[in-house]
Amino acid sequence: MLEKLKEEVYKANMDLVKHGLVIFTWGNVSGIDREKGLVVIKPSGVDYDVMKPEDMVVVDLQGNIVEGNLKPSSDTPTHLAIYRAWPEVGGVVHTHSTFATGWSQAGLDIPNIGTTHADYFHEAIPCTADMTEEEVKGAYELETGNVIIKRFEGMNPMHTPGVLVKNHGPFAWGKDPHDAVHNAVVMEQVAKMASIAFAANPNLTMNPLLVEKHFNRKHGPNAYYGQN
Ligand code: 13P
Repeated sequence: MLEKLKEEVYKANMDLVKHGLVIFTWGNVSGIDREKGLVVIKPSGVDYDVMKPEDMVVVDLQGNIVEGNLKPSSDTPTHLAIYRAWPEVGGVVHTHSTFATGWSQAGLDIPNIGTTHADYFHEAIPCTADMTEEEVKGAYELETGNVIIKRFEGMNPMHTPGVLVKNHGPFAWGKDPHDAVHNAVVMEQVAKMASIAFAANPNLTMNPLLVEKHFNRKHGPNAYYGQN
């Protein structure tokens, strides 16, 4: 079942290793078949070295296992909350990549201070609020999804396709698993660049016009970046 999506999700998980975003078993990628309402996700706690496409687990949007011999990622309820909230999302990624996780631990949004950021993320990459005792003791992974969705109230998640979960790490998403990984890789680079920039000049500034120019030339109604 969903063999093509399993291959795609497996490859996207392995791409996290290729891009240096994960070590050991840290992180996870999923993808959704919107017609069937089914999600394919990495199994929990399986080393990337030994993981195979057939290890991918199929779940429905309520988290019931539909196919697979292994337990799905522990973060499955977070991924599912994102898919339920935002119908445009086709793939979700979570990592503990160093620089983005550093900003999560600092509890700070990554401000939009450069064209690299603006090419992919319209606004600051937001950091979520502290989770309450109830949220942590309750359905923790589902509540993690809920704090992400709450943080995006009034924002377009497809224009700023990533978030920092406070004291935890980054989640990114995209139109499919490959696109979600691409955004996660960019987020890590942007976090690294921002760390260097603020260390060099804590009083740095960004021209908002440049943000609009770069975001819109790639994603605006008259986008012209790339080939036709
Ligand atoms: P899983 O192996 O369960 O996906 O967990 C990895 C992780 O990064 C948890 O935050």
